[in-house]
Amino acid sequence: MIFDEIEHAEKLLNEGFKDFISWYNLLILSKYFRKKGKKDSEIKKEIISFYKKYANYNEILFDKKIDDAIRKSKKWKLKISLDIYITQGELEKIRKLKNYRYERICFVMLAIARYNKVSYENKSQRYFINMNFLKILSLAKVYATKKERDVIKRDLHQKGMIVVPEPGRRTKEQKLETQELLYIDEDSNKEILINDWNNILKDFNPLCLDCGKEIHEFYKKRNQLCTECYEKKRLEDIRSNMSKYRNK
Ligand SMILES: [Zn+2]
Repeated sequence: MIFDEIEHAEKLLNEGFKDFISWYNLLILSKYFRKKGKKDSEIKKEIISFYKKYANYNEILFDKKIDDAIRKSKKWKLKISLDIYITQGELEKIRKLKNYRYERICFVMLAIARYNKVSYENKSQRYFINMNFLKILSLAKVYATKKERDVIKRDLHQKGMIVVPEPGRRTKEQKLETQELLYIDEDSNKEILINDWNNILKDFNPLCLDCGKEIHEFYKKRNQLCTECYEKKRLEDIRSNMSKYRNK
């Protein structure tokens, strides 16, 4: 997913491309040149001269594609990197899951849904996410098999975090999986700022399941406990094992 199309366009212009430019990239370039104040004919000239630098320009194949992208670029605004906040109320709902994998997934879904909502100036109160679940998991750095993914999705439905919207809402993007997010709280205080879209989870650390303290170094075998609580639990386990042994 591209969160900053200006950055993306400039990178593409600097580094070039191999073999062909996708239609999506043509659209971003059109939007980019339009933002620079160029007219349709100038945008086309820019794109063609860029194209010729890296591949054979075939008018029959590409002319219509470019015209198409230029026409569409009038309607769609260039997406830029935006500051997105997650509120305190939303975080509370996410933290209630008490499972850092699930929390990460919900955090990332909300960040993306809000990003799209702001960048498309969507005024609706409802939040939707149209994205392949596998893609969401990879942004949340959660690795799961197909079977595990189904379990995660089912759990998040059961816990009331997401819901598949009514069929009428799905017709437009049938190929993508649409989910509605049910843990929105726009009115509470802004708590976490997301502005590094290559590292969405930067300020979202796990919380200790015992004391609720933020854990900065996460070890899987500690079962989401902070160092102190993990040590305490380990000693308790040793003690209870010893007393079991003594009572035998
Ligand atoms: Zn703790």
